[in-house]
Amino acid sequence: MEQKSVEKQAEYVLVIHGGAGNIIKEKMNPEKETKYVEKLTEVLEKGAKILQNGGSSLDAVEVSIRIMEDSPLFNSGKGAVFNADGKNELDASIMDGKTLNAGAVANVTIIKNPISAARKVMTDSEHVLLIKEGAEEFAKQQGLEIVEPEYFFDQNRWNSLQKIKNREANEKPSPDEKHGTCGAVALDKFGNLAAGTSTGGMTNKKFGRVGDSPIIGAGTYANNKTCAVSSTGHGEFFIRNVVAYDISALMEYKNMTLSNAANYVIKEKLNANGGIIAVDKDGNIAMPFNTSGMFRGFINSKGEFEVKLYGN
Ligand code: ASP
Repeated sequence: MEQKSVEKQAEYVLVIHGGAGNIIKEKMNPEKETKYVEKLTEVLEKGAKILQNGGSSLDAVEVSIRIMEDSPLFNSGKGAVFNADGKNELDASIMDGKTLNAGAVANVTIIKNPISAARKVMTDSEHVLLIKEGAEEFAKQQGLEIVEPEYFFDQNRWNSLQKIKNREANEKPSPDEKHGTCGAVALDKFGNLAAGTSTGGMTNKKFGRVGDSPIIGAGTYANNKTCAVSSTGHGEFFIRNVVAYDISALMEYKNMTLSNAANYVIKEKLNANGGIIAVDKDGNIAMPFNTSGMFRGFINSKGEFEVKLYGN
């Protein structure tokens, strides 16, 4: 029987990721590495300020993800990957661990910050998931910022699409090369958990494909009884394995610790590339991945702070 942690580890905690994949030091130039470290640090500092000032875990999650959506470094919002038709189609979701309320948008092309649209779906509609033009119309009605589809363009992502299209004619590139995503999970001073995830999906995705990121239970899950989880990786497998909820369920029904549940699901059960970030109700965190690297970091009320890109 595993030991379940009962002692509260920290008053507030924020954990973020900017995607898992083929992230190795040898392939990263120092300038790019600095940019990632600086941006992840900025996200953690701004998000932690909210929690420190008594703000909600939902606010910390939304603000953290908005900063990553606005940065071309991550595959979400500006700088999202291109689909097979050369378009950016964005997905996002958010969940409130206190009420188990959730909101999501999928396949949107003109909403500047899809995570804010997901939150509006949660708070200002009676639905959980809105897609395409319907979601966009709703975002307009809610007064969210709307941009031209070209706003999301990034030359590097465009080049990746061309490369993958050329190679797919002859070989199958590893799914590890095609994804990325960003996400955040938080515990606030009031003991409330929240999780959110935002993505452009996978490069060269086809036919209105939707991945795990906007699917509650797969890409995002939060429950004050257990934990908050945000996933990144090969979405189809994360959906089939209901990854985020599975981790929560192992804690709830099998009394597993967050660390054991998360490591089991990502490193033993899941037969696909990816990782998750999670925080439990006591402030314990987990950031397992089975790829070579994952952009990730955490900060808590005890002043602990970490930003990492590569595997150990
Ligand atoms: N999970 C995302 C998707 O499949 C991609 C990623 O996280 O890398 O759409």
